[in-house]
Amino acid sequence: MTTFKALRVEQSEQGFSNALLDRNTDDLPPGDVLIRVLWSSLNYKDALSASGNKGVTRNFPHTPGIDAAGIVEEASDGPWSKGDKVIVTGYDLGMNTDGGYGEYIRVPSEWLVRCPLGMTLRDSMIYGTAGLTAALCVSSLIDAGLPDDGEVLVTGASGGVGSVAVALLAQLGYHVVAVTGKPDAQEWLKTLGAAECISREALLEGASRQMLKPRWNGVVDTVGGEPLAAGIKALNYGASAACCGMVASADIPINVFPFILRGVNLLGVDSVELPVEFKQQMWDLLATDWNLHALPTLLTAEVPVSELPDYFPKILKSEMRGRVLVNVSAE
Ligand code: NDP
Repeated sequence: MTTFKALRVEQSEQGFSNALLDRNTDDLPPGDVLIRVLWSSLNYKDALSASGNKGVTRNFPHTPGIDAAGIVEEASDGPWSKGDKVIVTGYDLGMNTDGGYGEYIRVPSEWLVRCPLGMTLRDSMIYGTAGLTAALCVSSLIDAGLPDDGEVLVTGASGGVGSVAVALLAQLGYHVVAVTGKPDAQEWLKTLGAAECISREALLEGASRQMLKPRWNGVVDTVGGEPLAAGIKALNYGASAACCGMVASADIPINVFPFILRGVNLLGVDSVELPVEFKQQMWDLLATDWNLHALPTLLTAEVPVSELPDYFPKILKSEMRGRVLVNVSAE
């Protein structure tokens, strides 16, 4: 049995609070593999879990952290051995299974991805779930026939998923138009490779019409709601929008006309329950052909677990940009 530190979220009559507490490995849920976590990251969903959102985490006390990268300590099943470098993202990690904001996790062996050769555990968590999701969005657009030319729209561009999508599409040679609600993020988005930045208001201007002038060869949407509807209504004939998020709204105010008159496609993207072999393929791609040169620019903060409570309200209020890396083994 090993004692370790974890960020625990607790519920009381006053609401939800969190504190860095001592735990021991016997407190962890059952599972095949015990992992010493070195790195994690901050995602929108982590902030929801940490602030008591029951749609993400039903039972408290709880350790959030939907991402973890570390080293196998004990493995009772599957292909894993002590010392393996592994990545765990999604499934139930950090939702109702103690997550990556603790120095140890215990999880089913089927949740593990091998950290690819050529990628460090630290870099894997700069990508994190946000980066994996962005890569899946881009991959789904390419699989659906995204042409090399023309413009690709990215919404929520300064956020975790959006900023990785901007950098990846730009590196792959696409002409990226980034939508952001933060005027002061536009220059930063251009350093990531955005060819053009537009405001949320500009995207939505006149966008309540049933169809808009066709413009986009592809859309990566991380926000849902009106921005997604505006993106779909302005897709070129036969083009696709990849949809993964709902920070603006879970509803899409749209009718069938773009689908039945322009043959456009709406592609759903899920990085949480995705079968692990597809996750492994995507991580391998991020370590090789899609290895992002802009990774240091995407990293906007590196923090110990003890500082995370300062960041939860910021990401929920859309005051963050890029990716926050969590150094789980730092004091
Ligand atoms: P972030 O908070 O990092 O980014 C979200 C961005 O959306 C913000 O930075 C902001 O960017 C923009 N935004 C915020 N509020 C609004 C609004 N009201 N209207 C329009 N745009 C807004 O979150 P993540 O990138 O981590 O996640 C984005 C979404 O994707 C979340 O809903 C998350 O739950 C979902 N997600 C889904 C996954 C899946 O598997 N399907 C996996 C990972 C995330 P800006 O200011 O630049 O406009």
